[in-house]
Amino acid sequence: MAELQPVTIVGAGPVGTLMAVMLAARGRRVRLFERRADPRLAPPERGRSINLALAARGLRGLERAGLLSAITPQLTVMRGRMLHDERGATSFLPYGQDEHEVIYSIARERLNLELVVAAAGHPGIELEFMQRCVDVDPIRQRVRVRDQGGVERDEPFALLLAADGAGSAVRAALAGRDLTVAREEPLAHDYKEFLIPPDAHGHYVLEPHALHIWPRGGYMLIALPNADRSFTATLFLPREGQPGFDALTDAAAVRAFFRAQFADVAALIPDLEQQFAVHPQGRLATLYCERWHAGCVLMLGDAAHAIVPFHGQGLNCGFEDCVLLDELLAVTAAAPLAFAEFERRRRVDTGAIAAMALENYLEMRDGVRDPGFVRRRALAAELERAFPGRFIPRYSMVMFHPEIPYASARRRGALQEWMLDELLAHPPQPGDERSAAEVLLQAAGL
Ligand SMILES: Cc1cc2nc3c(=O)[nH]c(=O)nc-3n(C[C@H](O)[C@H](O)[C@H](O)COP(=O)(O)OP(=O)(O)OC[C@H]3O[C@@H](n4cnc5c(N)ncnc54)[C@H](O)[C@@H]3O)c2cc1C
Repeated sequence: MAELQPVTIVGAGPVGTLMAVMLAARGRRVRLFERRADPRLAPPERGRSINLALAARGLRGLERAGLLSAITPQLTVMRGRMLHDERGATSFLPYGQDEHEVIYSIARERLNLELVVAAAGHPGIELEFMQRCVDVDPIRQRVRVRDQGGVERDEPFALLLAADGAGSAVRAALAGRDLTVAREEPLAHDYKEFLIPPDAHGHYVLEPHALHIWPRGGYMLIALPNADRSFTATLFLPREGQPGFDALTDAAAVRAFFRAQFADVAALIPDLEQQFAVHPQGRLATLYCERWHAGCVLMLGDAAHAIVPFHGQGLNCGFEDCVLLDELLAVTAAAPLAFAEFERRRRVDTGAIAAMALENYLEMRDGVRDPGFVRRRALAAELERAFPGRFIPRYSMVMFHPEIPYASARRRGALQEWMLDELLAHPPQPGDERSAAEVLLQAAGL
């Protein structure tokens, strides 16, 4: 049998390392270039524990690579949203219908470390840290890499995968050669993260098995639990305005804003002002990139389709990319054809999750405060119980049903919204609920 072409991957983040493990498991040699230091040697950043939500699509990718059992001990289950109002009252909205419909919080650094350890343990994978990609020539099949001392060299490649994130250098190199066009649509809202420490006895200071949300209409704060019993809180706020990051110019303004809007959280972060001053203010954007492949080069993960984080799906989506690409490369003789097919199949779904992520920001920061939203959700849950498999809330399709592509989830979600509108506007007579819903389901083709 002909030897499989080796693969060079730029970026040893979660997508690059997971892809490497999958490719090596099929017998390919893989070489990874990463601009950062080896996380197995670098000490973790003190006081900053940034986490993310993993759901079924991401877990499926890890399982496919045989890595789920290594990651499982690092997961903290989140069973629903805990909403905190301005007066400090809380209400809990479960995510799904049963104990399997949950999502998980994991420390980003820990996940990346486990993936790097798995990749490093594979004899077919060569990892090179502190090596920054600065250019890619897809015609000559050369990648230019700069080492720590600033020395640049050209490395040949047979196939190159760009998993170098939202600011991808590979994408810039392709765009510079007119092989793609990329447009970033920035959000007018930035974010800042805070650490909520455990209490003096080392206990969680909030319910650990929930994703906490303090929705405030035009902005919000969220918090996810960490395995070390701390929480990572993230403030999403307009860059400019009242309130806006630009108005929070000194410690007094920060304290006053938190006391007024998030008094319960302010009481849990003793060094709030200091964290505010020191932690970076991050930008958010959706990336629209016209072409993801050029000959033997393909972009995936955030490099191809970075999205805003409000559905907690960016990484889940990147892991789903890995599953599809692995399948296509396994059955397609010529890799460039697999790359073209990957882009053809994936684009509609990544476009759908990009749109749903933006829509979810409105729901999280505003929609959940509306009593109408709670009624609508209750009706949706009833319909799901009455018509299992036919009516599935959109959030559930995205988070718990990886067998439903994102684009189908969005389309079916719109039809279901129409059904809910109809049932709420024209409530059926008592006893007729089921038949009225059946008529609408049939009309919607569900
Ligand atoms: C605030 C926030 C919250 C989020 N929350 C969630 C969530 O809850 N759930 C979820 O699924 N997603 C979430 N995301 C999205 C998620 O972080 C990304 O989708 C995911 O990290 C993308 O993985 P990646 O491997 O494609 O890119 P990255 O994680 O960006 O990794 C890219 C890697 O490439 C390396 N690199 C970059 N440039 C070069 C270069 N020139 N040469 C060599 N190496 C390079 C980087 O150092 C890095 O290691 C969130 C994002 C943000 C901003």
